[in-house]
Amino acid sequence: MNLQTNLLIDGKFGPAASGETFATASPIDFSTLANVAKAGVADVDRAAAAARSAFDGGKWSGMQPFARGKFLRAIADGIRKNAPRIAEVETRNGGKTIANSLNEVDSAANVFEYYAGAMDKFFGDTIPMGANVLDFTLREPLGVVAAITPWNFPFLAAAWKVAPALAAGCTVILKPASYTPLTALMLGEIALAAGLPAGVLNILPGPGASLGDRIATHPGIDKISFTGETTTGAKLLKLGADDIKRITLELGGKSPNIIFADADIAKAAGQAVKAGFGNAGQSCSARTRVFVERSAAEAFTAAFAASARAARVGDPLDPATEIGPLVSKAQWNSVNGYVDLGRSEGCTLVTGGARPDGLPDGAYYAPTILAGAKNSMRVAQEEIFGPVVVVIPFDTEAEAVRLANDSPYGLNASVWTRDIGRGMRVARALRTGMVSVNSHGSASRYGFFAPFGGYKKSGLGRELGMHALALYTEVKNVFVDLED
Ligand code: NDP
Repeated sequence: MNLQTNLLIDGKFGPAASGETFATASPIDFSTLANVAKAGVADVDRAAAAARSAFDGGKWSGMQPFARGKFLRAIADGIRKNAPRIAEVETRNGGKTIANSLNEVDSAANVFEYYAGAMDKFFGDTIPMGANVLDFTLREPLGVVAAITPWNFPFLAAAWKVAPALAAGCTVILKPASYTPLTALMLGEIALAAGLPAGVLNILPGPGASLGDRIATHPGIDKISFTGETTTGAKLLKLGADDIKRITLELGGKSPNIIFADADIAKAAGQAVKAGFGNAGQSCSARTRVFVERSAAEAFTAAFAASARAARVGDPLDPATEIGPLVSKAQWNSVNGYVDLGRSEGCTLVTGGARPDGLPDGAYYAPTILAGAKNSMRVAQEEIFGPVVVVIPFDTEAEAVRLANDSPYGLNASVWTRDIGRGMRVARALRTGMVSVNSHGSASRYGFFAPFGGYKKSGLGRELGMHALALYTEVKNVFVDLED
């Protein structure tokens, strides 16, 4: 497979300044897929200079929003044209199922289309101050944005950041995760083919720890848009503090799935599989703490376990597969360690807890349910980032809300009940950025109109929808004295 492996800086693909490369592998069979140019601090400086000059030159930031939108639409077209290839590379590199990859590549094209048409509908305000004053606000592009993305949604996470940043008139440096750098580079190829001016989008695969320090303290970078672990986000926040660097953080989660006894238990159990084990559980918004009303706990757990056992784990390139391998051996060991920890903390293993039988070499892990858990246990408090869900019974609505909110995170939540009043009460009481009622779907399921993000240690700011545009602009107030 012919893969792009070079850095994109100032409109040209080329090697790292150091000439160094790093190997990127497939979790399907641990084979090396490619050796990718390894950006270093000198490359961050080159990319920042290119992005700065493209921004300050004003050709992009000053272009009519409608005209910028045409480039975004051309990128969306390029993504659609290359969708099967991007999806295959995404699956080979990260292990997600081909069905998910195709869906995410299509979603990424939709995100570019959404923002292609959004910026010329994003207005400032006119503020009434009496006959002798005209006061209004301008929305101005923020500047140079560094977008740092994780390995669990490589192409889609890049689209969520790059599309609104470009729409707003910003220029971008994209730093993909080291496990999965390949599809971000494909996005760069598509952007160049779409005619995006040099320096507007730069792409730097390389080690987050060293590049991140330079990005966070670089005087030529105005904003960081980061998705990843909470500890990494906190580090970036501290590093950028002296410069008051703008920052958006999409971080970890340990989201609750609350099931009342009056819910459609069969439907809730089936969707708990998608909510907990989708993307092999490597999803920030996974609902990994199931709280179930005690009178329904036995029936729910049995139905949930049956659905989990029925989920097809295997070769992610097979269109029928529902759960592929974890991203790496290291992730497999970490997930398995948590399952051992849960058992030693007193949980009962209902299903899973091992590599499924009959699969070839690869980082496969069976969907795992731990019952008899307490919310205070580490397996209920820490993000495992694998297909592991704990089940915890509750007796009252108030207890369900208290337990669900007893978490350092606050990204997503689901509530299942046929009592609409209770559904709304609980949705309001939950300290999470997103809540779904009688569905596992979250804000991004049907489109890109709803804000995605978290309370507490799950993040800062929001992605998607018009909310994200606001975070790639500054507001300027203009006061005009009309008196003669
Ligand atoms: P990491 O925080 O390890 O890495 C995320 C990105 O940050 C990678 O590109 C990584 O580079 C880079 N990075 C690592 N260290 C630094 C640093 N010191 N400074 C700057 N950048 C750095 O997270 P994971 O890749 O492990 O992703 C999984 C996490 O992401 C989970 O916690 C998950 O919940 C969260 N997530 C949140 C989402 C949300 O929307 N809230 C969505 C998706 C994931 P490198 O790969 O080179 O280390």
